[in-house]
Amino acid sequence: MSFAVEAHIDLTALRHNLQRVRQAAPDAKIMAVIKANGYGHGMVQVAKALHEVDAFAVARLHEALALRQSGIENTIAVLEGFQSAADLDQFARHALQPVIHHARQIELLQQTRLSTPLQVWLKIDSGMHRMGVAPENARECWQGLDALGSVAAVRLMTHLASADVRDSKQTEQQLETFQQAIAGIDAETSIANSAGVLGWTHSHSDWVRPGIMLYGVSPFCTGTAADDDLQPVMTLSSRLIAVNHVKRGDAVGYGASWVCPDDMPLGVVACGYGDGYPRHAIAGTPVLLNDACVPVVARVSMDTICVDLRTQPKADIGDPVVLWGKGLPVEEIAAAAGTIPYELLCAVSRRVNLHHQA
Ligand SMILES: *Cc1c(COP(=O)(O)O)cnc(C)c1O
Repeated sequence: MSFAVEAHIDLTALRHNLQRVRQAAPDAKIMAVIKANGYGHGMVQVAKALHEVDAFAVARLHEALALRQSGIENTIAVLEGFQSAADLDQFARHALQPVIHHARQIELLQQTRLSTPLQVWLKIDSGMHRMGVAPENARECWQGLDALGSVAAVRLMTHLASADVRDSKQTEQQLETFQQAIAGIDAETSIANSAGVLGWTHSHSDWVRPGIMLYGVSPFCTGTAADDDLQPVMTLSSRLIAVNHVKRGDAVGYGASWVCPDDMPLGVVACGYGDGYPRHAIAGTPVLLNDACVPVVARVSMDTICVDLRTQPKADIGDPVVLWGKGLPVEEIAAAAGTIPYELLCAVSRRVNLHHQA
């Protein structure tokens, strides 16, 4: 029987982290962001575990349709909105709320007859310069949407570019730009991502949009989940499938890039970049073997990584290995791989078995 890489998803931890959102933003409604398969945690199971939130957000229409097909009846906002009249028909049919970020989308909405009016979000670019209408056009766009028979309500949204930096000047500037752009408009607003929820109280407004913090990961560029009393939700684990004895001077793995400094035991773990483990993890990146830290050595392969077992001479085939999660923060692995925890969580591949536990 071969080993499978498993991602244990702790739904109790997920719900604990939702409580943290409530504590941090007690007056705001919560739009839980579950795009990209719930940041790799299983979108539908995450939605079911968080059923009492005020809304969900996904990036694309097909994600929202998958939620509806699974019986999720909550309010769902679609962050990229619609691209065609056919999309719009689906929004109306399934009572989905598009985020409108471009004048082209407003034109399309003006030209399309809908069976039921839509509740929409108007996204304003307050300084991130990625998506959203220019602040000086916000009022006109809002009026245009508000006047449409096919629009039942318009809410206002913007997104922060640098809220993960605790004293970022850009965040203050964006908050000011947004307030000026919407002055006098009577509509609900949403600004804060996870970093806004935890670090920028005056960004909370009517709706907060936490993503990463729900999964128990710090949204700050320097910070750990424990600092903010967040609990990791995903624990990625596998097992040793070989223990080999290699000689000082032997080169290990592709490119022979790592050379044994000693006669030593070397462990092979059944997990590689084909499972979502980052190929760029440097030698020395920790894994937990039988609850002890051992370092990754040599290049990460598609199906395996190698670990130095000099401190664990009794380690044997079948011993459990944690790649990240409980006891080994994904923040630490991301830093060792030159990336961010978001990317690692989203990249967990279809080969990995997700196990959801209440
Ligand atoms: C992904 C996303 C979020 C959630 O961000 P986190 O940093 O994961 O909390 C919020 N708003 C928008 C527009 C997003 O795209």
